[in-house]
Amino acid sequence: MNIVFLGPPGSGKGTQAKGVADKFNLTHLSTGDAFRDAINNKTELGFEIKAYVDGGKLVPDELVSKVVFEKIESLKGGFLLDGYPRTVDQAKSLENFGKKKNIAIDAVVFFDVAFEELVKRLSARRQCPKCKEVYNLVNKPPKAKDACDKCGSALLHRPDDQPNIVEERLKIYTLQTEPVLEFYKGHPGFRKINAAQAIDRVSSDIQAALKA
Ligand code: AMP
Repeated sequence: MNIVFLGPPGSGKGTQAKGVADKFNLTHLSTGDAFRDAINNKTELGFEIKAYVDGGKLVPDELVSKVVFEKIESLKGGFLLDGYPRTVDQAKSLENFGKKKNIAIDAVVFFDVAFEELVKRLSARRQCPKCKEVYNLVNKPPKAKDACDKCGSALLHRPDDQPNIVEERLKIYTLQTEPVLEFYKGHPGFRKINAAQAIDRVSSDIQAALKA
């Protein structure tokens, strides 16, 4: 099975992706995590994309698609795309790539949450830079202050989760990513989830949607 998670920043895609990937034995592909790793490891890709990511802008379509397709081609089993596609051009590229390589997208899960809730969530979000676990100081706090429950690393407040950058990201989401919903609305595997609910409720709704 191959799945796409669609939704605004802070809607819980990353939080849910890990559980779903484990449950259905999929590789979790987060473009955001891959880009942050490239920046932290100071790779050539990292230098190329740093200004976009830190400023809350989208990395150019061609570059993102190249990174994603190389990764998909290196995989054996199914995958879960978290944060890609984010523009209609990316969605079309994915469709063309799939046709050429005989790879189908079976489900598209849309995480529906109101923007006011997202702003609150993003200011309280923390992430482990090592194992990528996502926390929220309000509804999913780490056991020890500022340390990852899983690996003990110091948690980070992402630079692009600062209020002025969040505003820019939500604007870009409305302009460039929302049209991707239209692109997928006729897809037989399109499912809309109420992602404003508690984390466990969202997990069970996703699992029910994927089994249906
Ligand atoms: P995320 O962790 O998904 O919020 O992504 C963090 C940042 O990485 C975004 O704000 C963009 O700068 C970049 N990024 C991630 N995925 C994409 C994508 N599909 N297209 C363009 N830029 C992306």
